[in-house]
Amino acid sequence: MFKVLRVDHIGIAVKDLDAAKKFYTDVLGMAAQGEEVIEPQKVKVCFIPSGDSEVELLESTTPDGPIAKFIEKKGEGIQHIALRVDNIENALKDLKAKGVRLIDESPRYGAGGASIAFVHPKATGGILLELSERK
Ligand code: ZN
Repeated sequence: MFKVLRVDHIGIAVKDLDAAKKFYTDVLGMAAQGEEVIEPQKVKVCFIPSGDSEVELLESTTPDGPIAKFIEKKGEGIQHIALRVDNIENALKDLKAKGVRLIDESPRYGAGGASIAFVHPKATGGILLELSERK
């Protein structure tokens, strides 16, 4: 058993993290958190909290990273939506049992120390869905 708690964040692929961040901070007046490079995923991320949810800006650290490839194909924009769950191990077990196509069969490290796993867009109606658990 697992429970979806809320929309955790919306992941936005950008070419230039600093430039993208300025819109949220300077124009919208939001406060950005520090940046983090997640080497295995070849991204530099910055979270911008908004109430219970956050905006996650993602910039590729290499031309062949998943974010760079996404931008190449679709342009900058929303890349994934993340739902926070209470227990990611249980969520993955449950989805697997239901025959849902997963990108990650087991949780991996996400920004800010979260445990994350991606569900395939073919299983969700076209959305790259991230499940995220934070302790
Ligand atoms: Zn994310």
